[in-house]
Formats: sequence, structure tokens, C-alpha cells
Amino acid sequence: MKISAWIRSVVSVVFTDRCAVCGRTLIDGEQLLCLHCNVAMPRTRYHLSSFNHLHERLVGNARVERAAAWFYYKRESPYTNLILQAKYFDRPEIAHEAALIYAREILSDKFFDGIDMLLPIPMHSFKELKRGYNQAEMIARGVSKVTGIPIGDNIVAKSGHKTQTRRGAYDRYVNVADLFDVENANELAGKHLLVIDDVVTTGSTLLSACEALRRSVPDSVISVLALGSATLD
Ligand SMILES: [Zn+2]
Repeated sequence: MKISAWIRSVVSVVFTDRCAVCGRTLIDGEQLLCLHCNVAMPRTRYHLSSFNHLHERLVGNARVERAAAWFYYKRESPYTNLILQAKYFDRPEIAHEAALIYAREILSDKFFDGIDMLLPIPMHSFKELKRGYNQAEMIARGVSKVTGIPIGDNIVAKSGHKTQTRRGAYDRYVNVADLFDVENANELAGKHLLVIDDVVTTGSTLLSACEALRRSVPDSVISVLALGSATLD
């Protein structure tokens, strides 16, 4: 057995023997989700539509070409476990594995065709230091593994980019303006960029990243991908 296969098998015993959504023990052939949770997942299928609810939330100076999200993110839904367990219970492998599955699902629909680089949304460095990893980057790694598209670290957080979980929608809107900088913009010139985050709520964080890209790399094409997309009802 190769070492990588051995590590995978150990990791799967330790981490992925239970459904990340309902907690039921997984059986052979099930990955991350049990069959029931997989079939019942409230998929958005946004990637099949050229103007969807994600596009609507990201209307600004930066035109978004393609927009994809795996599932609807509702506060009381067990599917939030796919985001929250990874985020708050220190299980980054969930985000990575979820991204692998999602990327495989939409690969044949040509969502990734022509995309040159994956750009995960960064966290404030202090938060990342505390948690030890960036959730959006784990997702980007999963997508990269399936698609072979390289990951760039060109989007950087300006200092003072705080967590937005407890702030109201109005505050978030007011604070959207200027969260990110783009480094080494010349690397991105003329490219189709896929900006990646874990979950989109109001869309203000993602929009801010897209607008930073539009300012720094005006001739790029920008698309976005997230695992969860909140329904604003
Ligand atoms: Zn389940």
C-alpha cells in the first residue's frame, strides 16, 4: 500500500465514518454523506443558470460570469453541518471532501471550462492563526484536485477584516466597501478567475473580493463558487 493510500485509509477511519449531515454511520460506497442525505440535499443547481440568485446578490461594479453553490444554506437545516463542523469543530477535511464531491458533480456541466485560476477568499490572518486553516482554501484545494486548476493567493485581507457572523445585514452592507487587496495583479491579467468561499449569505464579502479584482485586474473574467448559499427569506 502506498503511503498516501495508507494515510487516506487512516483519515477515513478517524474522520469520515459518519455522515457529516445526520451523523449516521456510513456504509461502503458512501462518502461524507449517507445516501439519504445525499439524495435529499437541497441542491441549488445554480451552475446551470446564466443568471441566478447568486448573480443577483453580486450585482456591483464587477460583472460575475458564472456562479455556483452546492446547497441552500438555511439556519435550521442539518446541511449547515457541512460548513459549521469544518469551521467551528476543527474538521477541515469536511470542507475539502465536500468540495471534491461538488466539483465532480458539476465538472461534466462544463462549469470549470476555461477557468485559469482558483482564488480562495482569505481570512484575517489572526483568525487563521487561531484556527490553523482557511476554510475557503480547503475548498479550493478540493476543486483543484478534481479540475487541475491552480490556486492563487492573490486576494489578501486588509487589516481589520473581522468575522461578520454577529453583525446585521445593514452593518455588513455598510462594511462591504473595502475588505481586500489584490497582490501581484499582473499574474491574473486576462485570466478567468474563480473566487471561492464557504458560504454566501448577503454576498457582501464575495462582492468586495470581486470588486477588488475588478479594480486591480480590469481585463479578467470573474466567476464565483461556494458550498452553501443562504436563502434570504
Ligand atoms: Zn446522513
